[in-house]
Amino acid sequence: MSSKNNLFLTSSDSDQQVYQDMMAATVKAIAASVADDQAYAGMGPYDLRAALHTEELLPDNGMGFEAVLADVKAKILPNLVRPASTGYMAHLHGPALLESVASELIIATFNQSMDSWDQAPAATEIEVEVIRNLCKLYGYDDKADGTFTSGGSQSNLSGLLLARDWFCNEVLKYDVKKHGLPENFRKFRLYTSEISHFSMEKSAHLMGLGYESVVKVPVNEAMQMDVDALEALVKQDIADGNLPFCIVATVGTTDFGSIDPLAKLHELCQQYNLWLHADAAYGSGVVMSEKYAHRVSGLALADSITVDFHKMFLLPISCSASLVKDGRYFDALTIHADYLNREEDEEDGYINLVNKSMQTTRRFDALKVWMSFRMRGKDGWSAMITKCIDNAAYFHRQLLASPRVEVITVPEISSVVFRVLPGASGEDADTMNKRVRRELLHHHGIVIGQTVCRGNVCLKFTLLNPRQTPERLDELLALILKLADRK
Ligand SMILES: *Cc1c(COP(=O)(O)O)cnc(C)c1O
Repeated sequence: MSSKNNLFLTSSDSDQQVYQDMMAATVKAIAASVADDQAYAGMGPYDLRAALHTEELLPDNGMGFEAVLADVKAKILPNLVRPASTGYMAHLHGPALLESVASELIIATFNQSMDSWDQAPAATEIEVEVIRNLCKLYGYDDKADGTFTSGGSQSNLSGLLLARDWFCNEVLKYDVKKHGLPENFRKFRLYTSEISHFSMEKSAHLMGLGYESVVKVPVNEAMQMDVDALEALVKQDIADGNLPFCIVATVGTTDFGSIDPLAKLHELCQQYNLWLHADAAYGSGVVMSEKYAHRVSGLALADSITVDFHKMFLLPISCSASLVKDGRYFDALTIHADYLNREEDEEDGYINLVNKSMQTTRRFDALKVWMSFRMRGKDGWSAMITKCIDNAAYFHRQLLASPRVEVITVPEISSVVFRVLPGASGEDADTMNKRVRRELLHHHGIVIGQTVCRGNVCLKFTLLNPRQTPERLDELLALILKLADRK
């Protein structure tokens, strides 16, 4: 089939044939490796490490594609987790929709780079089109703009950087891009809930502000930011001479899927002249559900929004966007290079997307959104997202009905956090919940999440798979309770 002499897909008959053969063989191996619905085959870290240990990554003589694929088939494919399994629900990590796997083949084969128009002509125009439509989807008008990023962490950093620059440039009248941070930078304050994503602290550090600039606001029983506590903190900071510049609303917290009250946070931002960033890495998908979209309708109020397509949207990693209500603020990321994004070209209509991005070389991830949105439409998307949220509501009801289980909070999206209470065995509850998760992983082909809530070890179901069913959820709960008692 393959020959080491064929390097790329070109117009030559031989390259055409080898490309098709290699892809077909790969597709066949992938499909054959998924012979059951287990989420993981079960191997532990030491065994897996030993099995995958390779003396020679770079052999003296190339092995050829068949031999490499045979190795991949024998050693790697069987030991990958399968997010498409209904037994997989550990993290905000979903399966990849079929059409988006096809998109990935196009993306990789043509390897466009989104930094400049001459490296990605059609891809640039499609990304612009997708971003325009996304801004509309989230309720922004035509002043808005956005960029694709590597993930929610980078989208958050991008949004917060724009917030910092807005504050320096427009409030403090200080050119931060040119001079670096102003002398009073230690007084900058950003507010976010105590259960927000750690990319807030990471971003604060990367922006030169440090962890101490991040004020953690308590959450209420529903795991949403406590607005009264927030306002008290802002007032105290102002009284102390500090400089509040941004509130971050989490729209779908990583563990609980709880949604901060966007309308109230927006009011506070208006009152105190603060930037509102919405970290909707998780909750951005809710907009697709006709039944539940109202839960995130406040997103339109935010000055910037993080959207992740590799979570609820079921597109392959990486795929994320950073949207900004007023596209002018992307100036924070614009710098001209003679070899890449010449101003004279831009005057003539060539769009160089590097001007809005922290990355230079960048993937054509927008194609995945374009193909999937068009293929499935509003109806298809609404059905998928609604199903996941309905599943979480169902599972929550089942847990409430079980005397052996404590549920942490009512799910607003599709994550359910709970813990099994100690039984007759006398085993400590934390130890028992941890043991159950490990046993599911290594002996039952099931991958669930684990976190800590109010000091207690909890189990977590993150339900992103529209193939999940109430019957299967009942089965999983019964199995968890059985394992809990088997000590
Ligand atoms: C997952 C997540 C992130 C980080 O996104 P990545 O795509 O993993 O970088 C940020 N915020 C929240 C709320 C998340 O759940």
